[in-house]
Amino acid sequence: MTVTETHCPYCALQCGMTLQADAADRGKVVRLEPADFPVNRGGLCAKGWTAAELLGHEDRLLTPLVRERKGGPLRPASWDEALGVITAAIRRSQREYGRDSVGAFGGGGLTNEKAYTLGKFVRVALRSSAIDYNGRFCMSSAATAANRSFGVDRGLPFPLEDVARAQTLMLVGANPADAMPPSMQHLEAGRAAGARHIVVDPRRTATARDAYLHLQPLPGTDLALANGLLHIAVREGLIDEAFIRDRTTGFDAVRAAVTGYWPQRVERMTGVSETDMRECVRLLATQRPSMILTARGAEQHSNGTDTAQAWLNLALALGLVGRPYEGYGTITGQGNGQGGREHGQKADQLPGYRRLDDPAARAHVAGVWGIDADELPRPGLSAYEMLDRLGTPGGVRVLLVLASNIAVSAPHSSRMLERLRSLDLLVVSDIFLSETAALADVVLPTAQWAEEEGTMTNLEGRVIRRRRALPPPGEVRTDLSVLKELADRLGRGQFFSDRPREVFEELRRASAGGVADYAGITYERIDKEDGVFWPCPAEDHPGTPRLFADGFPTADGRARFHRVEHRDPHETPDRQFPYVLTTGRLMRQYQSGTQTRRVKELDAAAPEPMAELHPDLARRHGIADGDWVELRTRRGAARMRARCDPGVRPDTIFAPFHWPGTNVLTDPALDPHSRMPAFKACAVAISRADGPAEAADVSASAAGIAAGAARADFGQVDELIGDGVGARGGGVRVSRTQSELDRTRGGA
Ligand code: SF4
Repeated sequence: MTVTETHCPYCALQCGMTLQADAADRGKVVRLEPADFPVNRGGLCAKGWTAAELLGHEDRLLTPLVRERKGGPLRPASWDEALGVITAAIRRSQREYGRDSVGAFGGGGLTNEKAYTLGKFVRVALRSSAIDYNGRFCMSSAATAANRSFGVDRGLPFPLEDVARAQTLMLVGANPADAMPPSMQHLEAGRAAGARHIVVDPRRTATARDAYLHLQPLPGTDLALANGLLHIAVREGLIDEAFIRDRTTGFDAVRAAVTGYWPQRVERMTGVSETDMRECVRLLATQRPSMILTARGAEQHSNGTDTAQAWLNLALALGLVGRPYEGYGTITGQGNGQGGREHGQKADQLPGYRRLDDPAARAHVAGVWGIDADELPRPGLSAYEMLDRLGTPGGVRVLLVLASNIAVSAPHSSRMLERLRSLDLLVVSDIFLSETAALADVVLPTAQWAEEEGTMTNLEGRVIRRRRALPPPGEVRTDLSVLKELADRLGRGQFFSDRPREVFEELRRASAGGVADYAGITYERIDKEDGVFWPCPAEDHPGTPRLFADGFPTADGRARFHRVEHRDPHETPDRQFPYVLTTGRLMRQYQSGTQTRRVKELDAAAPEPMAELHPDLARRHGIADGDWVELRTRRGAARMRARCDPGVRPDTIFAPFHWPGTNVLTDPALDPHSRMPAFKACAVAISRADGPAEAADVSASAAGIAAGAARADFGQVDELIGDGVGARGGGVRVSRTQSELDRTRGGA
């Protein structure tokens, strides 16, 4: 038996766990146990407990697959053939359409080493500007607000354990009880010590149920609520004038702006009572220490940056930031959502959170990479903008996708399917045949969490190690080795390594002096110290668990207020689409479900999406619990079963995004600062449906992706894999575009 200490493959909490593997049985994991790591202290959620099921799963991709012609089947291929197809397509495309016709799309689940190498691969091997990643759909609004106010974006600027010391904790659009249950022990410790928790959420979530105060605003009005709370704090003399004077700039403009957010007006805009608002401000200002944490509910809007900013303004005005057990933070979602946004897989970024348009940053990183700074491309397009132009003149024609399931997770996903299908070549590296991989021309089987080495950076900014417990199966390779070999074939291999430790050493040098400075972090220190918090500029530096105690990394060392005003969501309800659709997570599924929909226990507990709606709203439409309903927005329709829940606002419908279908509905309107789509609020109509619709069935059988399609039994692959999208285990049956709806309904 071998025993390996590593971390859960899923969310940004990165719970510590121990894997016991049988060396005599190809490293088969025979036991998985939670570790006493600071964030999870011996706890795991159901996803963590069952994570080992992913390792030997029957659906695992074990060899490359290629599609000989568009619309034809995928068939097994050798690595030499698959990489040859990719290299030839890259060369042909760049010769005919220019360097930016080849691009990459990364993910917040990639290790730091892989995210760093992917960014470098696109800039150095492809010399293309076309790269972005799915974190743009996740953290970008909070990151943009934090960067402009604090000069740095580290989700939590303090260890998670500090949460237990806060006497008032405000969670805005966050549901850790479902999204990361082991983190709740820190919240519960706080409550046991008398803390009051305030939850802002349009649904009465598991987190909201245990809160002292639950504010239930209409989705898309959080900014108005935050400005309203600041209005009250100013009026009641509860702001911290000394902190504002000594440590910040720009408050006068904010003070002037919030005069327009008097309580009665904000009550009308948000639906939150004046009494609750006043109680909330009183607690935040007087029952100290106090913390405000935001998450995707506040941030995934077409005004997400300004909304995060409004909460940040409130925290600054109350003097919470940089004080022990107080502050503002945002709860990162994806496993390496933090590290994945620091080291260069963003369109505008170089490692160390450096800007690609900064001449000094270009010179530094080019020096580390051994190239001329002029060889580095300029910043490219953000995620949705790049994806929306796939296959169009001037757009990307050959796309390499790592650790991302665009077909399910991008907004307006029916449009995204059209774009993906229009590519000259789509290459997807994944562990399973995801819905995006099922569309690919080349599928590359990649190693997963317990089969690889590397580092991750958790929601606290703590850099931790992912350790290999067993070798990858079959012909599976690591993404690092694939990128290295592709670079070799493109004549740029001398700049790349496929060894994680070597890559990390280079990342340390590339990040040195940057905002996210990893220069002093080594694998050995991570082992010894239970992870190291960045910035850590030297090996004798202790790392920085708590930021902002002495200043902010801005030009003048002060935090900056920014005046922000409420704007209506891009779509507001009207006669045709009279309600608000908001989307989110379930406890037993994760992201696009590629992994968790394949885990038996998780699939049994949450086998299909359900539209949550208030019983009054259900009655109005003759809908009973468990009925099929059709949700319609301006982009398309999806059918799923109804779940009546009095905890949802009567004007709001909630749908989880772990299955194909929900994002057919969502609005791709982008935040002007972060380029975040408006996932959390769009106008929707609902009606009772007789059952799953037949017309545009994209279920597993229709797509030809049945259980076991991607197994090692490749005799089946030709028959089973078609050019379509699977809804494995899902109850969503329809994804039609608005024009299709119009045709079938005579213009809805
Ligand atoms: Fe894994 Fe997150 Fe669950 Fe922890 S909370 S076990 S990291 S999914």
